[in-house]
Formats: sequence, structure tokens, C-alpha cells
Amino acid sequence: MRTPLIAGNWKMNGSMALVESFGESFARAPLPAGIDVALMVPFPYLGDAARAFDGTPVAIGAQTLSDQPSGAFTGEVSAAMLADFAVRYVLVGHSERRTLFGEDDAAVLARVEAALAADLVPVLCVGETLEEREAERTEVVVLGQLEAVFDALSAQQRARVVVAYEPVWAIGTGRTASPAQAQAVHAAIRACLARYDQTLAEGMRLLYGGSMKADNAAELLAQPDIDGGLVGGASLKVDDFLAICQSA
Ligand code: PGA
Repeated sequence: MRTPLIAGNWKMNGSMALVESFGESFARAPLPAGIDVALMVPFPYLGDAARAFDGTPVAIGAQTLSDQPSGAFTGEVSAAMLADFAVRYVLVGHSERRTLFGEDDAAVLARVEAALAADLVPVLCVGETLEEREAERTEVVVLGQLEAVFDALSAQQRARVVVAYEPVWAIGTGRTASPAQAQAVHAAIRACLARYDQTLAEGMRLLYGGSMKADNAAELLAQPDIDGGLVGGASLKVDDFLAICQSA
């Protein structure tokens, strides 16, 4: 009932040549039916990615956006600009944005609202640090980040969000949450969503992210509350990313 979504997050990696080679591979790759695939490429490649992936099942995503519609914000990119490039998804609240660029819950909420206003699908990232996990604060932190956004949205807006659980200690470290650890947090997120609305909880796609690779994806994706993946490092190699898509 929930369509799995496999989203690749290139971060500040890749090149024009990589966009072209992914476009060529996905044009002839046998992707499983009934899954959604997206690639979040750096801003300068959005136009080329839209062209390279035209006619393939791969949707284009961005990695962040401004919370402002336009104006004197040097270096920023608005939601409407992303929509001009046929962008469908945009990451919001990735842990690197939260820690390296100081985006707090209010900044994350403002970006989710900006994305929704432009008809983009915000992929809201939440996750705890190792310190928070060891202090047994995982649920408090993760559900707090979730509620900071969901409390402020209307029922219609909530239904258009995708949530990605990314334990900070698993991002780019090669240390993946075990399927049971990930499932436990996903179940807690879904239970939290059910407090807003049972239908919302049942329909919401919850992605796992953090060192998802070709050899651990199937087991993670088999968990009942894991509806897809947000893939960083392994989305930079076309064979690895295809293998993950194929295990969805
Ligand atoms: P990783 O990154 O797969 O390289 O751990 C995931 C992410 O940051 O979205």
C-alpha cells in the first residue's frame, strides 16, 4: 500500500559526466515495478539531470532550499526555482544542514513550508547522535524533530511529506543501524504520526538512511515500517545504487 522510495543523495559529489552516465544506465536498467526512485543532485546539475533522466523512472531532487520566496539572499535557491527544473523532491533537515549550517527546528519547518507551497515533496530528515542514543534519548530527539514540523502543518500538508530516519552515527560511517534498531525507531515514528491521524500514519513513507549499501539494503527494506532508503555514498556508483533499487 505504500510505494517504496529509494532516494540517492549525492551531497557535494558527482560531476556532469556522472549525471550523464547515470542517465544512460537508468534509461535501460530494469527497475522493479511499483517503486519510486529519485536522485538528489547538486544544484548546478539539476537542469542536466532533468534532461538526462527524462523518459526514465528517476525523479529529480534537490538537497536543500531557501525558506524565502525571493530577494537579496545571495547564494540561496528558492522552491519556485527548483520547481522550474522539474524537481519533485527536496531534502529538508538533513543532519549535515542541521549541524554544519545551523538549521534548527524552526529553520527546518520554514523550509518544509516553502517546499510544500511550491508543490515539492519535502523529505524531512530526523535522527539522533550517538551520544543521544547512548543516553537513551533516541525517541525523544527523533519524535521532537518530527513534532516540531508536524505540529505546525495542516492535515493536508502533513500527508504530502516523506520522513527519513537517519541516525547521525550511521551517516557516512559505514556503521548501519541493525534492521531491528531501525525498525524500532520507524515504528515509534509511525505511532507518533498515528496520534495526528491513523490514515496519515498508514500512508506515510518512512525511509531509512545511514550507510545503506547493496549488501544490507534488502534486510532493512524488508522491515514492516521501512518504506525505502535515503542513500548517500552508495548512490554515487550506478551499479550499487541500481542494486539497492532492485532490492526494494
Ligand atoms: P550515507 O549517507 O549513505 O553515505 O551514510 C546517507 C545520507 O546522509 O543521506
